[in-house]
Amino acid sequence: MLGRAPAEKPIGATRQCPHCKAMILESATTCPACRGHLRFDQPPDRQTLDQALKIEGSITHPADAGAWEYCMVAVIKNERGEEVERKVIGVGAMKANETRTFSLSVDVVASTRMRAKNQ
Ligand SMILES: [Zn+2]
Repeated sequence: MLGRAPAEKPIGATRQCPHCKAMILESATTCPACRGHLRFDQPPDRQTLDQALKIEGSITHPADAGAWEYCMVAVIKNERGEEVERKVIGVGAMKANETRTFSLSVDVVASTRMRAKNQ
């Protein structure tokens, strides 16, 4: 039983990563925040699909400008365009000729059960 979640946990159930305390899916086999291993077997009613979304872009500070500050924000909206979640991912500063690359990815886990949490 150690490291196994009961199969009857609701779809969309969350828990805290024991390593980094990030809020993650109960069904996760590895923590997406710290990449720590959480279990060796996927729950039998879950199947990890290909990465549903991945975008990446870079900003390079020009050599002839003053210092820049940046703030990376991630927003999740529902089918009506209403914000479900908004998080500041990170902030920082850039000097001449420095580059920062920003990546965003969404993993999807399919369930063989019918209903999601809160529906
Ligand atoms: Zn973690």
